[in-house]
Amino acid sequence: MNLILMGLPGAGKGTQAERIVEKYEIPHISTGDMFRLAIKEGTELGQKAKSFMDQGALVPDEVTIGIVKERLSKDDCKKGFLLDGFPRTIAQAEALDELLTSMGRSIDYVIHVDVPKDDLVERLTGRRVCPECGTTYHVLYNPPKVEGICDKDGAQLIQREDDKPETVKNRLAVNLEQTQPMLDFYSNKGDLVTINGSQEIDKVFSDIDEKLSQIS
Ligand SMILES: [Zn+2]
Repeated sequence: MNLILMGLPGAGKGTQAERIVEKYEIPHISTGDMFRLAIKEGTELGQKAKSFMDQGALVPDEVTIGIVKERLSKDDCKKGFLLDGFPRTIAQAEALDELLTSMGRSIDYVIHVDVPKDDLVERLTGRRVCPECGTTYHVLYNPPKVEGICDKDGAQLIQREDDKPETVKNRLAVNLEQTQPMLDFYSNKGDLVTINGSQEIDKVFSDIDEKLSQIS
């Protein structure tokens, strides 16, 4: 079961990733985790990646792909994997295809957790944080007992700059611009599965699960 998970910020991708890896016993592989592991293990590619990251530079695709190859070659990926945050560009997607072909494998599904942009804005701008203890709330999904006040210490909750509507809208627009070509790419290959992410978390997962149970 070789999977890629896609979705905009706030679409609930992280929660679904947890459920998928738990049920299907495949590793959840995010780009950040992959880099951290390669750096920790001190592989040649890990050291190369680190030298770019230390300079605040983007890690070149050839290094990233090499690290993906190392990661996907590990024993825990024998049954499959769930890639999250990779590929990010068409060039990376093509390189991933080549890599998998050389390993005698291919992507089964690209799962896109799809939530309309307006809903995402509502989800992402609803977050409130306690400046004293760091507890996070959500005005709709996880509100404090008293509006605007932390349950734990009575401090006035704040909305982070990152969570303000204009910032959120810009972030989503940038993400959408990056994501759309990938969705088109995998759609053309017939690998794309679009899941309605506006439903209850359990229903989103059961929709994903229904698709995945058709593999194997
Ligand atoms: Zn607090």
